[in-house]
Amino acid sequence: MIKNKTQLVRRALFTSWMAGAVLVGAQLSQAALSVTRLTPPSTLFSSGNPNPPIISRFLPGQRFDIQATVSPDAGQMIGGAQFSVDGTVIPDTVTFATANAAGQPAGSVVISVRAYANIIAAVHTLSITATQSDNQVITATGNFEVVPITPTTWGAKNVIIMIGDGMGIAHRTAARIMKNGVALGKAKAPLSMDLLPFTGTVTTHSLNSIVTDSSPGASCYATGNKANNNQHGVFPDDTTENGDNPRVESIGEYLHRAQGRSLGIVTTTDLFDSTPGAFGSHTQARTAGAGICDEFFDERNATGLTVLMGGGRKWFLPNTTSGSGRTAATDYVIPASVATAWGIPAGVVDPGRDLLGEFVADGFTYAPHSTALNDVSPTTTKLLGLFNFSNMNVAKDKIDGRRNGGGTNVVDDFGFPDQPMLDEMTDKALAVLSQNPNGFVAMIEGGSIDKQAHLMDSDRWMIDAIEFDRAIERCRQFALAHPDTLVIVTADHECGGANIIGASRVTHTNLVARAATGQGTNQLRNLVVGTLDLAGFPKYTIGADGYPETTDIDFRMLIGYACNADRYEDWITNPKPLQNASHGILTPPLNMIPGYPQNPLERDTVGNYFVTGQIQDAIATHTASDIVLSAMGRNAAVFGGVMDNTDVFFKVMQVALGDAALRQELMERFGNPGIVAINGVTASGASLGLQGSSGGEYSLQATTDFQTWTNLLTTPNLPATFLDTDAPGSFYRFYRLRWH
Ligand SMILES: [Zn+2]
Repeated sequence: MIKNKTQLVRRALFTSWMAGAVLVGAQLSQAALSVTRLTPPSTLFSSGNPNPPIISRFLPGQRFDIQATVSPDAGQMIGGAQFSVDGTVIPDTVTFATANAAGQPAGSVVISVRAYANIIAAVHTLSITATQSDNQVITATGNFEVVPITPTTWGAKNVIIMIGDGMGIAHRTAARIMKNGVALGKAKAPLSMDLLPFTGTVTTHSLNSIVTDSSPGASCYATGNKANNNQHGVFPDDTTENGDNPRVESIGEYLHRAQGRSLGIVTTTDLFDSTPGAFGSHTQARTAGAGICDEFFDERNATGLTVLMGGGRKWFLPNTTSGSGRTAATDYVIPASVATAWGIPAGVVDPGRDLLGEFVADGFTYAPHSTALNDVSPTTTKLLGLFNFSNMNVAKDKIDGRRNGGGTNVVDDFGFPDQPMLDEMTDKALAVLSQNPNGFVAMIEGGSIDKQAHLMDSDRWMIDAIEFDRAIERCRQFALAHPDTLVIVTADHECGGANIIGASRVTHTNLVARAATGQGTNQLRNLVVGTLDLAGFPKYTIGADGYPETTDIDFRMLIGYACNADRYEDWITNPKPLQNASHGILTPPLNMIPGYPQNPLERDTVGNYFVTGQIQDAIATHTASDIVLSAMGRNAAVFGGVMDNTDVFFKVMQVALGDAALRQELMERFGNPGIVAINGVTASGASLGLQGSSGGEYSLQATTDFQTWTNLLTTPNLPATFLDTDAPGSFYRFYRLRWH
């Protein structure tokens, strides 16, 4: 069968060393039998390095797809393939699909095993062996790790993950200065997020860049694994289809499958946006809004989704309805093999779908505005809130609408005068999610801190950070009242390279006069910008609603951007936000309303102070700097130091799953036939095959009854001695073994 063993060994080594570095990135003009991608990603495959960092890590039992892309020699085909883990062939069905992405040589295929899981905590070797039509064989090897859960006395029944999108450390500081002020060098009061006792920093890089976007930024928290930019809940692949990428089971799916917990997703953005999307969908196209929102509903029985609130109503209305944003191009389908393996619907391209109607028919209480949200019964168990066609209006504009009334505010122009604040949405979400005695995971996002930092609208993102902090206070109070709750507050990345330059040296009246001169740099920079001791302590007055009475104060705080686009700056609060091009029905008339600029370059032109952008784009963008994470509640002390964003997932799950009683339930569901935690031993739950080092002592934890384990331990093949166990009678048991 094998024609030339030497050649094959050479090819395998070549593939293992070079695939990631050269073949994937380069033009694949010359076909040669090779494995060009092995998923989950590993440095063992991409660069031949078996050492840490182990790129792809999973919880015991967490499901993920295994995939390889294999290209044949010219004129040949790939005829068969199998995957092995630690040398044992995975018995599951292997499926083939054409690798139709640009640059793939003729005959290239993606080969998959779907919804694989491994319960043994260890670094595992993954190999693909593929056979070409002339019987040549190619192999390649990578690795992944299964991370153990350490038993603890107490666990967290409820997990609240709060994400201030784009919220770097400067965004936090600016919000604190604006809200609380500084006296003689001391903050007059902390933000609520400052009151969380445990703090660390988080690195935010994505699978394919030091600078992440919000999809992998959120996906790392939701799945524990890196994703490419623009993709969430999946690993990259070599096909053009959006719904067929290798999936990774998310926090909601895992906790719902294991323990029947509920999932809540709450955001101030359009619900299809990356951060909410990553907690309830899997796609390589973060912009496919109809598909992402369809998936929220179609896969609700997998994720346990019972609360969904934010903007984005346009995706929930049939395309025959005014305001709908649904199109065939943004919809989704999933290959039958994926749907079957994961136990989910395959999806349909149905732009005419009445998704809102389906949510309601399924028993969701629907709140279209703040008044309806207030009226939602405390005993409601499923809640959908859609408060705008696209992104909700930002906190400044919602507050202005509440303060002024009269129908002439920004929120009136947008057609949604009665939108809730994030703290109000948070209160209702926690009340509904608390109905589930099994507990819940909630993702609550202050989404427009990022969006307004992109637009370099400093006052708007500062006020949104204050809105986010008020929602944090609600979660803090919930956790104080429910000690079995973990709260983490973090960001997915920094946005804008925003920072606090200092403060204005002039009064607001004076600033307005200087802007009117049109003498740009001299008037608005040289005579206004106060750095160091010239900055002093800006003093904002906070209204009874918790927000600044005005941001146009004398001697105001000044913000600059390191990752900025070209803009004009006059430091004065922009009276109107930018147009929202994704708003749906109101976009054309909104375009006509004076005062809604289309991009930052249309603002503040009179002052003629031009700030040259350091990037070519029309808006500022994300930076690669670390962000802050704060935590409180059950076992929150595990959050500290410098963490990778994927570490956060495993720390959250350690807290959520460490509890002995909760673990028991997990084991019942995953421990087939019961091996769950095995210290240093590799084993296959399906075959009861165990391996250990000679002389090593291992502890095993199992849910099966004593008789099963007696049978196992008297198996002639098992090279181990049964030392002892914990007291008989407990439902799950610890065993101690010494290997021969
Ligand atoms: Zn962003």
